[in-house]
Amino acid sequence: RRAAEKDRRKQKKRERAEQEKYEGVDLGFDELMSENEVKSLTSQLAFTYSANRKAICPFSSLLFTSLNGRTFTRLEGMSDAAYSRWIDTEWWEDDYQRLWKGSEETEAVQTNGETSEPKEDATDATNAKKAPKQKKLQTAPRENIVYLTADSSEELTELKEDETYIIGGICDHNRYKNLCLKKSEDTNIRSARLPISTYLAELKTRKVLTVNQTFEILLKWVETRDWEQALQAVVPKRK
Ligand code: SAH
Repeated sequence: RRAAEKDRRKQKKRERAEQEKYEGVDLGFDELMSENEVKSLTSQLAFTYSANRKAICPFSSLLFTSLNGRTFTRLEGMSDAAYSRWIDTEWWEDDYQRLWKGSEETEAVQTNGETSEPKEDATDATNAKKAPKQKKLQTAPRENIVYLTADSSEELTELKEDETYIIGGICDHNRYKNLCLKKSEDTNIRSARLPISTYLAELKTRKVLTVNQTFEILLKWVETRDWEQALQAVVPKRK
């Protein structure tokens, strides 16, 4: 009977692991924003975090990449750097390419370790003690990463468990068309736009949303599996 109980627990754990899903926000646009836009962006990041905390079906982790410059300074100054205590978030100075390059590097380090000169026992012991403390990097194969942008020719049809979605962390008042599309092309990852024109009949033109609006739509879709409902809940209607 104990074995059965153990199996059941293992199964539960597997189910939870299968449900893990990650969301990324690319903060690599710091220099393209005015001071006020940086302010708006950091508020949007706080709304994004808080939406995930309140969600019925939250994402397992929010990853913020390319954290630097004025966005970093402003976050540090907000409520005594509250962002650094946000639960289930990860902050990288590196850009999102580390998601797949990071795993290559980790492998390389391990290979080097095997082929290097034998070390003295004392050094080995020290290394062995340090190893478990290292934080496991979030990784994802490049083909499972999708950059979300209104300018993509691909329409998002569903969110998949094993895919990581990246939102462009920029507030630009529509100044830089194709900015994120170009970045997805330059870094060789897929891109997709929300299916707004398909599900909201009144919005036939390209619709650019904020970071937190985009994220809230993803959350709602995961909860309802229904684009119309998800979009209607978040997209502001024109009067
Ligand atoms: N000029 C920027 C727009 C920034 S809006 C660009 O090139 O994308 C902030 C982010 O919200 C976008 O980068 C995108 O990730 C997300 N977003 C906004 N509207 C979207 C839409 N209709 N479909 C998919 N993602 C969208």
